[in-house]
Amino acid sequence: MKFKAAVLRKSGLPHPYAASRPLSIETVEVPPPAAGEVIVGIKAASLCHSDLSVVNGDRAWPMPIVPGHEAAGVVEEVGPGVHSVKPGDHVALIFLTQCGECEHCIAGKPSLCARGTQANREGRLLSGGPRLRSDGQAIHHHMGFSAFAQYALVSEKSLVKIPDDLPFVEASLFGCAVMCGAGTALYSAGIRPGQSVAVFGLGGVGLSAVLGAVTAGAARIIVVDPG
Ligand SMILES: [Zn+2]
Ligand SMILES: [Zn+2]
Repeated sequence: MKFKAAVLRKSGLPHPYAASRPLSIETVEVPPPAAGEVIVGIKAASLCHSDLSVVNGDRAWPMPIVPGHEAAGVVEEVGPGVHSVKPGDHVALIFLTQCGECEHCIAGKPSLCARGTQANREGRLLSGGPRLRSDGQAIHHHMGFSAFAQYALVSEKSLVKIPDDLPFVEASLFGCAVMCGAGTALYSAGIRPGQSVAVFGLGGVGLSAVLGAVTAGAARIIVVDPG
């Protein structure tokens, strides 16, 4: 399948980006999904600061790469052995790829999955790759899916089925901001009902931490943001 994607070939280009134009819209290609892989039509992709860190070079990733790691969309095609979703299903894509089989995944701490983290760091899918190509050249995946594109070829373990009536824009935030912010409030911080909570920074992650604190029953929530 061929589609358009925003390709980053070199990080750390000078400001302003309107002049240096680090991202180029290119036609890329992916093969049909292999076993355990899914092609998703991207309907919404959020912009996270971690995407900017890819562009400005604060975080080193293999180049070239298609950034984007918060997204939601519709399943277009599934590879052999995929049973959790079918074409037409709505899904949110999650950047924390989890194998589901290692000691951390089995212990209920998939964010520590070493296989998923290694695949992400190498710019490939948990199931292999990189699968993206542009004029025959390999293009790396960002966090297991590369959302700044019309489609994404992903591991089945990089997506979660969502209700059809959940708007795609809101659903895309579950892939990073909600997972990080609400996840921190509910699980890492372990907020208990009645506690007081301070959240520093009200970007997507901070706002999601507030949602998590509300969900956990915090009595008082203090937010600190430079505005
Ligand atoms: Zn993010
Ligand atoms: Zn694992």
